[in-house]
Amino acid sequence: MTLATDAYIGGAWRAAPARFEVRDPADGAVVADVADCDEAMIDAAIGAAMRAFPSWRATPGRERGTKLAAFADRMLGDERVLAELCTAENGKPIKEAIAEVRYAASFLRWFAEQAERDPRETIASERAGQDLSATREPIGPCALITPWNFPYAMITRKLGAALAAGCTVVIKPAEQTPLSALALSAHAHAVGIPAGVVNVVPASDGGRIGGYLVRAPGIRKVSFTGSTEVGRAIQRAAADDLKRVSLELGGNAPLLVFADADLDVATAGSIIAKFRNTGQTCIAANRFLVERSVAPAFQASLVAAIGKLVLGRGRDPGVDLGPLIDDAAVAKVARLVGDAIARGAQPVLGSPPAPGSRMVAPVVLAGVRDDMQLWREEIFGPVVAIRTFADDAEAIRLANDTEFGLAAYAFTRDPARAERLRDQLEVGMLGVNEAAISMARAPFGGVKHSGYGREGSTHGLDDYTQLKFVAARLP
Ligand code: NAP
Repeated sequence: MTLATDAYIGGAWRAAPARFEVRDPADGAVVADVADCDEAMIDAAIGAAMRAFPSWRATPGRERGTKLAAFADRMLGDERVLAELCTAENGKPIKEAIAEVRYAASFLRWFAEQAERDPRETIASERAGQDLSATREPIGPCALITPWNFPYAMITRKLGAALAAGCTVVIKPAEQTPLSALALSAHAHAVGIPAGVVNVVPASDGGRIGGYLVRAPGIRKVSFTGSTEVGRAIQRAAADDLKRVSLELGGNAPLLVFADADLDVATAGSIIAKFRNTGQTCIAANRFLVERSVAPAFQASLVAAIGKLVLGRGRDPGVDLGPLIDDAAVAKVARLVGDAIARGAQPVLGSPPAPGSRMVAPVVLAGVRDDMQLWREEIFGPVVAIRTFADDAEAIRLANDTEFGLAAYAFTRDPARAERLRDQLEVGMLGVNEAAISMARAPFGGVKHSGYGREGSTHGLDDYTQLKFVAARLP
């Protein structure tokens, strides 16, 4: 596959008046330059999505599903190339990039099956001769705005649902990772998804171009994944036109280790929950809450496991931790670690990263308190922040002490405690002795300032449809 670097609009590759560089986070080398879309190109993409909508919506669900399944198969057939591209622009270890391609394709496959679901529900009437029904109709052209941390999956989790429902889309990928998005559109094109159904508009000024897209009258729904701050701006921008919005935002996940936990399971789960994508995931464990009596044993076990992780260039085999995405990400980790240490956290492993390199070695801090910035903010890096608790009530109070509510993890062997946690933790997703909580069949999403709406699962279509009720008395 040749590298796609122009915008994909109306089934054709379109050059832009300007271009911007995509750089390898590992060393800053230029990977490619990419079309930098302006407002006129956004208008063209929305126009293409509007024109394609009537016939895509009228295409039988089964046919839409067949195209999505072919799209998934094509992605998997090109898995290595797609993974290398992702590693080049995002930096993640190649084994994680391969896992991401599979994970991303799983959403297309899942929604291929959902596309066949009957969109009409019959409602029993109280009156003879009356037919009542509610039909899920596609909402219209949608804007999909996505982050850089999972350049394929954050798109397909939306795209699969939107296309299955009968919507058309304009995708605005993150500035750092447009190549993955353009590669996806090349596969959509190759499997015969009709012109205008999928449009991809890379841009270097996400605030200006993303905001323009959100406000554009032709867009009927905005699905956003990214930071809470930008999510708020998007909700405000969408308000005047009363657009439907769904928001997958930031997290501040607690990971609770109780005294009765199997510490090997808790350690293995912690490595996944913390270090996947080098800590740059929305569901990354941000605050480790450990019952006091097992804190020394758990800490020792975790530090030993961290010692086995290999930091390096994502493309090199055997690497577990890649670079952080950019210098701002390194500076944020340095600020959060520095602040915690200045306020009394004990460095158990590592130290604040120095500027100049994006290769950030793991840091473990003990004695974390709620007056430290990392208690409130998403760390988005390989930093373990540990705080101890005395009993279940304190653990739950500390876990919920955040504006966010995306994910939580708990390690315990007590089923009654697991049930209490299920009831009392203020999150959209909970893993109990389980760190792998993202899958196509799961409703992914948050509560509180982590957003609303759900992606994946049988609920994933809901965000792209509206219900029409019909009461009919036919002669
Ligand atoms: P971000 O800065 O919020 O950007 C996300 C996307 O929004 C990018 O495409 C960005 O374009 C665009 N954008 C920026 N300002 C905009 C505006 N005013 N109007 C419309 N679009 C705008 O987030 P990020 O740094 O890429 O990603 C990291 C964040 O995403 C973290 O907070 C993470 O927790 C969150 N996340 C959440 C989930 C979830 O499912 N809940 C999953 C993954 C990541 P530019 O790139 O050009 O700025």
